[in-house]
Amino acid sequence: MVKAVLKYLLTGLKEPCPENFREHLLNIVKQQFELWLGKKIICSHCKSGAILNESGFCPDCHVGGDLPFGAFMEVLVAFQRCTKEELITYTGHKNSDTSKAARAGLKLILEQDCSFLDACLDSLSRGRVPNYAFSVILDLPNPNLKDRKELILRLASGEKTGLALDFMKKLDNQVWLPDQERKDYLEKMIDHPDSTLRVQAMACWLGDTYSGVAL
Ligand SMILES: [Zn+2]
Repeated sequence: MVKAVLKYLLTGLKEPCPENFREHLLNIVKQQFELWLGKKIICSHCKSGAILNESGFCPDCHVGGDLPFGAFMEVLVAFQRCTKEELITYTGHKNSDTSKAARAGLKLILEQDCSFLDACLDSLSRGRVPNYAFSVILDLPNPNLKDRKELILRLASGEKTGLALDFMKKLDNQVWLPDQERKDYLEKMIDHPDSTLRVQAMACWLGDTYSGVAL
């Protein structure tokens, strides 16, 4: 029911309508979303009375509840009702529908707002934004990333394992990175003291060799 209403709002509010009416409805959507996030929702699948966890799954029967979080987030993103900071926070939400919709909103802002992108990269290097923001950045189009090559490579250098892993997992999207630099990067990571990074680097290296890319 809630999902159906939100789906209706997503399309309906794009139609011409009085601005204060739209504002009012969107304010309600945001309030309701925040209320829903704090709700204790009982599993309706197994009748054990267990409360769904933050990802929206039942700890007893492990079936996911039909939660409207993602639909709320889609409306909030479509009508720009979340601040950049909120989008960063919700991108890390354990419920995958919520994080997916927030991620799409965050990606769009990062793509359009170069100074926000620079600020995010800077904050990542200082550990002031969660690491998952890096994986959103790595999905941006080539023109957004190629001018920021040095900083991105520095973040991916292995000082923080999570960032380097994200970078290697998305290495194939990084078409701005010339073949030789990709090869140099992987060679460096194959020698990294962290075994997780070495394994991932080896997987990328073998992938390149197998597909005939770069090497
Ligand atoms: Zn259950």
